Amino acid sequence: DRGTEPWDWSAASQGGLVKLVLVTGAAGFIGSHVAELLLSEGWQVRGVDALTDGYAPAAKLRNISTLAHHPSFTLVREDLATAPLGPIVDGVEAVVHLAAEPGVSTSWGDSFPTYVERNVVATQRLLEAAARGHAPRVVYASSSSVYAPTLEAMRESSPLAPLSPYGVSKLAGECLVGAYAHERGVPTVSLRFFSVYGPRQRPDMAIHRFTEALLDGRAVSVYGDRTQRRDFTFVGDVARAVVSAVTAPVPSGTILNIARGAPVAIPDVLRMLEEEVRGEATVAPMPHRPGDTEQTFGDSRAAAAALGWRATTDLRLGLKHQVAWHRALRESPRDGVPPVVPAEGPPTS
Ligand code: NAD
Repeated sequence: DRGTEPWDWSAASQGGLVKLVLVTGAAGFIGSHVAELLLSEGWQVRGVDALTDGYAPAAKLRNISTLAHHPSFTLVREDLATAPLGPIVDGVEAVVHLAAEPGVSTSWGDSFPTYVERNVVATQRLLEAAARGHAPRVVYASSSSVYAPTLEAMRESSPLAPLSPYGVSKLAGECLVGAYAHERGVPTVSLRFFSVYGPRQRPDMAIHRFTEALLDGRAVSVYGDRTQRRDFTFVGDVARAVVSAVTAPVPSGTILNIARGAPVAIPDVLRMLEEEVRGEATVAPMPHRPGDTEQTFGDSRAAAAALGWRATTDLRLGLKHQVAWHRALRESPRDGVPPVVPAEGPPTS
């Protein structure tokens, strides 16, 4: 029963067998780093991304511009909520499911159906395709947003009570992953990411917004009462965790926090950015946004035991990398988007 037994994929990926991984959301912030790391470790990567309009599709194409001509990378431009997924999942050893509509504060009101479609319906369709195929391992990107608010360290066993429609949609996805693991034999690992930052960070996220405002000399919008703390985790560390989870011999249905384990107050991270940018921020105080929790703080001891993983990137170093990326973008030619033509339709190889 693959639903409950440890599943050692490293054996399957040795000895010249096909090592093809499907990465959904491959053109996104985290997905592009995961795809790069998998390729550097010798995997073939089939990316699928709808290039949704959550932020500029051009920025997503830029994320994968260096991968576009990699001989082991293909990108399928399809929507997981509607496309036939059998051919997309066919032949892969593992699925890394990162595609989603992200963003806490934007998930209220009329936008919720989009979150349901992209985070719940798309996840169920992908799991169904995996179950109907040969049930490749599925690594699901979950979120610290599934936890009930607390000032304690969040453990995998901590109470779950999302504060936002986004968190509800990610928890629904996680529950679907559990159901397909338990009842349909799909070997799964869910990773709960905590406040990921680094090069290519989404434009709606705090460090991206702060850095752009500092570089422009504009006021920095800070929401809430400025006491909020976030467990900022570097994207390179997160990508390592994801790639480990593709082959780790862990029981199906495993859920792991992926966090640095050191929450930092927003004014402190802003000060670090000021030093890095060598600028001074004028803060524009903004009201609390519904869904923004007071603190994220993840206990990742389970990931250390299961994956041999821990975050190793110091926050200042990670911020340096992110600021360097913002500066490089500004120096690159208009939009800096080299031509990338994603394939339309299901993969042909
Ligand atoms: P992102 O928006 O940069 O990447 C998501 C990608 O998925 C986008 O390129 C988008 O075009 C694609 N996509 C969305 N819906 C799709 C669909 N139906 N079919 C095909 N492609 C689709 O976001 P990100 O920050 O890289 O987040 C990646 C994953 O990690 C998400 O599942 C998110 O919920 C999760 N996560 C992120 C963070 C974080 O701090 N960034 C924290 C916790 C969890």
